[in-house]
Amino acid sequence: MTALGDDDTAPALILVATPIGNMADLSPRARDVLANADSVACEDTRRTGSLFAHFGIAHSPFIVCNEHTERAAAEEIVRRIESGQTVALVSDAGTPAVSDPGQRVTQRVIAAGHEVRSIPGPSAALVGLTVSGLITDRFCFDGFLPRKGAERGRRLERLEREERTSVLFEAPHRLERTIRDLERHLGPERQVALARELTKRYENVWRGSLAEAMVHATDVEPRGEYVIIVEGAPAHEASDERLIEALQRELQAGASRRDAIAAVVELTGAKKRQVYDLALQLDGKAFGGSEEPPST
Ligand code: SAM
Repeated sequence: MTALGDDDTAPALILVATPIGNMADLSPRARDVLANADSVACEDTRRTGSLFAHFGIAHSPFIVCNEHTERAAAEEIVRRIESGQTVALVSDAGTPAVSDPGQRVTQRVIAAGHEVRSIPGPSAALVGLTVSGLITDRFCFDGFLPRKGAERGRRLERLEREERTSVLFEAPHRLERTIRDLERHLGPERQVALARELTKRYENVWRGSLAEAMVHATDVEPRGEYVIIVEGAPAHEASDERLIEALQRELQAGASRRDAIAAVVELTGAKKRQVYDLALQLDGKAFGGSEEPPST
């Protein structure tokens, strides 16, 4: 029985997620799409060749799509889709186009008016986030930080203010330096998880503060691949000035006091009681008795 979906053999680009360590994580649908695709684009032919051999998939020559060839590969892929082919695209591991080749091809195929589909599966970023123990309902993915230069500093500064959990990739030999920079910018207290060798035999998730992570990174020899997951910054407390400005804007736009307070609370996340008191100050008098002060 095939696990192909209804459209999996129609002319299109199909991004296929592959294992990040454990071969059993290749889904039956991914396997069937790879076996049935007219063409397969991959980052490294030897790596994808081994994956295909493991699953007994026979395939004609691959289209090489890596950081150096992606532009040319995109043109070739569009040509093949236009000739009626289904083209599967894989990276070395995980979900293509996430810190991997695939984004440019996807944009080019969409611009040419063709279908793009994705066969979901392993993604180091999401596996790391979900085992981190940190907040998962709002997060941002920052990929690899630039190795040096002003852009690295700017990205670290943004992480310092970022209130969502941040997910980063890092190579083992740069782990210590990145933890040191994170500690310098974000402070020693911020919680972090170092998720290593996910889905592999020596999978390990270390959790603690950035100060402790620094000790850990210097104590153990970092080996394997890492996802770094960093706790978000504490919620930014809006200053009274900022809240008053926001209230004035709402009132000038014609909102009632009640609506202005509600809008500012929603907009800034400030406490209702604080905004209510500021609205009273602004008005110079109590709310005409008809409005109850908020209980919180
Ligand atoms: N697109 C891939 C994905 O969706 O998983 C990520 C590709 S990126 C070039 C490779 C980086 O992902 C590694 O340097 C590491 O930070 C992270 N990574 C990949 N596999 C991993 C694993 N098994 N355990 C921990 N991190 C991993």
